Amino acid sequence: MLIVRDALAVWTATGEEVPGDVVCGDDGLIAADAGTGEVLDASGCVVTPGLVNAHHHLLQTAFRTLPGTRGVPMAQWLPTMAAAYAAAGVDEELEHAAAWAGLAEALLCGVTTVADHHLTWPRDPFPADGGVGLARAAAQAAREVGARLAFVRGSAGDDPGVAAASAEAVAALVPHGGVTDDGMLQVAVGPAGVHSDGPETFRLLAEVAARHGLRRRTQANEQVDVVRAQERYGRRPLELLDEWGWLAPDVTLAHLCDITPAEVATLASAGVTATHAPGCDLPMGWGVAPMAALADAGVPVGLGTSGGGSNDAGHLLADARLALQVAPLAGRPVAAREVLTWATRGSADGLGRTDLGRLAVGARADLVCWDVTGVADAGVADPVAGLLWASPGRRPRHVVVGGRVVVRDGVLQTVPEADVAARLRDLLTARERRRHRAAT
Ligand SMILES: [Zn+2]
Repeated sequence: MLIVRDALAVWTATGEEVPGDVVCGDDGLIAADAGTGEVLDASGCVVTPGLVNAHHHLLQTAFRTLPGTRGVPMAQWLPTMAAAYAAAGVDEELEHAAAWAGLAEALLCGVTTVADHHLTWPRDPFPADGGVGLARAAAQAAREVGARLAFVRGSAGDDPGVAAASAEAVAALVPHGGVTDDGMLQVAVGPAGVHSDGPETFRLLAEVAARHGLRRRTQANEQVDVVRAQERYGRRPLELLDEWGWLAPDVTLAHLCDITPAEVATLASAGVTATHAPGCDLPMGWGVAPMAALADAGVPVGLGTSGGGSNDAGHLLADARLALQVAPLAGRPVAAREVLTWATRGSADGLGRTDLGRLAVGARADLVCWDVTGVADAGVADPVAGLLWASPGRRPRHVVVGGRVVVRDGVLQTVPEADVAARLRDLLTARERRRHRAAT
């Protein structure tokens, strides 16, 4: 049992702000009553649920600030990234190192669950194991650092049959319903979007999802998506998704930058959930997604960073701040607590995970203690709102996942942070050298 004691405020994401202790039971769930156990000092802290990053591409952690990928149109960004993946060589070793770094970064930023929309698979030949080794590498990285992972078997123009067989194989890593008993690993499926994959891929992956009870996710209505849907089909992306059976309550759509009021209504009546990723959408020039309008129409909204190729930081709280800052440009201002709800419960709901993203008895004991005693928070009237508005780049004092302290006093407890950073750096350097040798 772990007792999180003396918090200044506990923001639960359930509409309540309760004073007092939060108790994590030995079963890894939030418990009702304090017994005896380890005490975690939360004095001077605001306690929140662990943040849930609903949209990441963890492999891209190895490709941050890549030359030729900043300030360029997406039509140029895609081939530049693809060339970088091919040059580095996508395999289990790189996947593990990148996921290790991305997930360690997540925990150190207060993110306890990451949805990894994995789109990049080795081709020629596609791995004989159906890509299960790659998924396992990501899952192992998550287990080692102590973060929860939702691995989304994505596709970006893969052969439809190959993608479906691979999704089928990856689904075997988890029980029916897509989540392990301890809630640490989830599997979902979803193509990158109508710009990359056709109706056959969407149909086959939906069949895998239905067979195994998995959630579905895709991306819609960024730059290339809208343009290519028009060129190829003479339609809007959401019209295609609707026709292909992908506007449904088990589907989450990321980005949604360029959507009309009529499309907002369509999404609401279809019961889909949405993921906002402003830290990607803005620098990529895709515009500000009308999240307040979606929320007002009844669409549950989550928050994601997207990957290192477009957003070089996996710092979800920083992007929550950005979401606040840009919201008035797309509809109406949003409140800090509303965006904090997107970053916790909203993201979790989009993953079908009502056990995550809220501090309620019986929910997973994932929480973050944010120290608000420093100068950046001095003079802050509302410390919960201050989590977002004040102190950009804020990092937590403690992070707990399933009742286990994984970050204590700002230090990752599971794996030395320096080792994680060195592993990815060394691997990328070694591959760069290998490339140079091969070229000379
Ligand atoms: Zn994305």
